[in-house]
Amino acid sequence: MIPTPPVVAAPGTETPTGQSGNTLIDKYGRRVSYLRLSITDRCDFRCTYCMAEEMTFLPRDEVMSLEECLRIAKVFVGLGVNKLRITGGEPLVRKDAMWLIEQLGALPGLDNLVLTTNGSQLERFAAPLRAAGVKRLNISLDTLRPERFRAITRIGDINKVFNGIAAARQAGFRRTKLNTVMMRGTNDDEFVELVRFSLANELDISFIEEMPLGDIQGRNQTYISSEEARTILGQHFELTPCDESSGGPARYWRIAGHESRIGFISPHSHNFCDSCNRVRVTAQGELHPCLGQNDVMHLLPILRGQNDTDLRQAIIDSMGIKPFGHDFSQQLETPQVVRFMSMTGG
Ligand code: SAM
Ligand code: SF4
Repeated sequence: MIPTPPVVAAPGTETPTGQSGNTLIDKYGRRVSYLRLSITDRCDFRCTYCMAEEMTFLPRDEVMSLEECLRIAKVFVGLGVNKLRITGGEPLVRKDAMWLIEQLGALPGLDNLVLTTNGSQLERFAAPLRAAGVKRLNISLDTLRPERFRAITRIGDINKVFNGIAAARQAGFRRTKLNTVMMRGTNDDEFVELVRFSLANELDISFIEEMPLGDIQGRNQTYISSEEARTILGQHFELTPCDESSGGPARYWRIAGHESRIGFISPHSHNFCDSCNRVRVTAQGELHPCLGQNDVMHLLPILRGQNDTDLRQAIIDSMGIKPFGHDFSQQLETPQVVRFMSMTGG
């Protein structure tokens, strides 16, 4: 089947779907306004669901320079993208990451600069991130117990993350969100404690269904659905669904008397593809229009060999390969998507 060409309106004109200006719209009519940009594949943790124990990281010359990351971001913003999440690997272990973040914070048209981190470096970086214009932080935390944390991350120190969470608050960040990957037999007995911790620290929290990326052996035994987690939490809290959205795939619930939102990200049990508004660019400059599929557009050779007009055209063309949706299935014994999350940026 020949794919329908992507629709990109010339400045000041209307597209057939009613968008105006420079706008990225895929062949299913979804507007892409959100870029998740991974600035490194390296990390100071080795979370079991994200990385192999012995990871081979990319050679430096295959990773985008920070200047190249900035060029990509500028082209996307010129095409109407107004939200950008910096991710990785662990973005804050990249040398001079703050230089890029300051440039992005000052980029006209980029209204919503946000960052996902494991929190280990936040004690040092929370204040400069806030000063640079980062609007919100997501911090990954799957357990509150030091030994368990060490087992999940293989090398992480939970106290650094606790200090990072406190530093974020002190720097003025509000609505910081914890991301908790749900794993049966590993942290399913802690969901209630994690919610209590979030309420006490005025944090939002999202429980994430584990996705079958990278080495998936045994994942079908550890998978927990959002529904099951909600049932567990419902025995301890009165959860009221709320319409609010952070613009992402999470569905939110509230507990009376508290500001915190309790979210569930359900790639398996609730497919959120219809309203997908995002694409990802890896540290290698690979544009992935869908986290759960293998379609890719290689931007690095274009970045290095050609000018920004060609880069812009390649990004526009990528709208033609954005698939309708993912097809994760926890029953799969062979990974459909062979990338580790640290490669794609979560
Ligand atoms: N290092 C940062 C962190 O941990 O927040 C940013 C990158 S990490 C790849 C982004 C998010 O992806 C984290 O919240 C992590 O828990 C999540 N993640 C990694 N592998 C996953 C998997 N297989 N299924 C679901 N979420 C995953
Ligand atoms: Fe590192 Fe984040 Fe992956 Fe954990 S989830 S290994 S912290 S990139």
